Amino acid sequence: MKPEKRIELLRGDITRVDADAIVNAANPSLLGGGGVDGAIHRAAGPELLEYCRGCGGARPGEAKISPGFRLPARYVIHAVGPVWQGGNRDEAETLRRAYLSSLQLAEKYQLESVAFPNISTGVYGFPKELAADIAIHTVKEWLAGHAYPKRVLFVVFDDENEEIYRKKLGVTG
Ligand code: ADP
Repeated sequence: MKPEKRIELLRGDITRVDADAIVNAANPSLLGGGGVDGAIHRAAGPELLEYCRGCGGARPGEAKISPGFRLPARYVIHAVGPVWQGGNRDEAETLRRAYLSSLQLAEKYQLESVAFPNISTGVYGFPKELAADIAIHTVKEWLAGHAYPKRVLFVVFDDENEEIYRKKLGVTG
């Protein structure tokens, strides 16, 4: 199947998404934070924090996997995106690696479906338009060469990202 056919756009709260894995926009401690990270920890329950304490953190561009505990999703992939510092600190490459690391874990665990939030575009300040280009390009390129994950869902939460992803993915209505 063509890569584009394996990509979907959803608007809403990623903690409600019933995918094999949801991706968390985590910080390097992997011990929770604000935004989508806080929402995922609240919805998964305290077992998630307990589990993540044993994960040893992750550097920007890396990802680690945990069970989903009380979430509908079976797994959470904790990906650490870059903090935007103006664009000359390898932020684009680090964001690409955060998506790639997550996709590699999805392949390793043979996950059918993986849902991504818009990593780094909240508190981390990454420009949304550029972040969407990187996310979509990295995912399409991966899907063109790999069988897993079978489907990728981009979950947008705010108006601006919804608009950007609709345009770039050619979703109408
Ligand atoms: P970062 O620190 O990587 O910027 P944030 O959590 O601050 O992470 O923001 C990343 C993106 O997640 C933002 O686009 C924000 O709108 C979105 N977001 C926040 N809460 C949720 C949620 N419950 N489900 C899906 N996306 C969310």
